[in-house]
Amino acid sequence: MPQEDQYSLVNPVTRYDRVEPPIQHQPEPGVQARMTPVPDLGEATYRGSGRLDGRRALITGGDSGIGGAVAIAFAREGADVVITHLPGEEEDAAHILSLVEDAGRRGRAIVADVSDAETCRRLVADAADFLGGLDILVNNAGKQVAVDRLEDLSDEQFESTFRTNVFATFWITKAAMAHLREGASIINTASLEAYKPAPDRLDYAATKAAINNLSKGLAQQLAPRGIRVNVVAPGPVWTALQVSGGVSDEQMAAFDDENTYQRSGQPAELAPAYVYLASAESGYVSGATLNVNGGMVTP
Ligand code: NAD
Ligand code: MG
Repeated sequence: MPQEDQYSLVNPVTRYDRVEPPIQHQPEPGVQARMTPVPDLGEATYRGSGRLDGRRALITGGDSGIGGAVAIAFAREGADVVITHLPGEEEDAAHILSLVEDAGRRGRAIVADVSDAETCRRLVADAADFLGGLDILVNNAGKQVAVDRLEDLSDEQFESTFRTNVFATFWITKAAMAHLREGASIINTASLEAYKPAPDRLDYAATKAAINNLSKGLAQQLAPRGIRVNVVAPGPVWTALQVSGGVSDEQMAAFDDENTYQRSGQPAELAPAYVYLASAESGYVSGATLNVNGGMVTP
């Protein structure tokens, strides 16, 4: 019998068990390999079918979680891939790069803190140099640190969350314009939080609303140049973000209860949305937000 893959006819609600994570803490950025359980990035299940043959993709935060799953999927669909990550995430990045190479594609990891403008410009230049151009940009790196009370949300965190999530999306996309040609696809990563902000994620949720809005404006600006801009808005997904301050202990214990399916999503379940938006098959789709969130209702 062929192994189950993303095309198998199964009940989507029960496809994965509830995670029911033990309470665990890591410093930022979390290392996925040290999580219990380790998230599923589709290592054993994602099956490519040439949907991105010969494409060249840059994925920020592609060492782990959603970005890691996207990197594996893109490579199996035929793309060469550059991922970026922070210092300390080398182990996770090596895992992804080895799978990119197993898929027969070229891959490279760039260590870069995207909260700095000059670093963003340099990483885009380095990525385009390695890839020999750029067809797909996935802005996925993100910072989420839960803080209960407004009085305790530091000015430094508020600024840093915006620099990492919103400013970096602006700086990286602006720098990428020198390389993107007709047919290119930009995919930004928002969140269910863009519409349904948790009371302890004020800075984070506001950045995700901004990313949604920025993307819809930019989609209209870039359409005459043949470049598409779309957004994926994930719901609760079991990733390193959650165990490195992203949620409180209470929310971690109840992580599976936050959505209609009553179970956390796995990064593997997000990758096909990015593949669709990256591929030419979604050519008439721009300025859209694709919600992948376990059946939660959004505007
Ligand atoms: P993750 O921790 O696996 O990935 C996030 C990555 O962002 C990290 O691996 C890290 O390399 C990178 N990053 C963070 N700060 C950075 C900085 N200053 N410079 C460079 N890179 C930095 O977690 P994930 O959940 O896969 O996150 C990916 C994206 O998905 C984020 O934008 C996140 O906001 C979004 N998202 C996640 C969820 C969820 O429930 N996990 C829900 C909605 C949206
Ligand atoms: Mg990581």
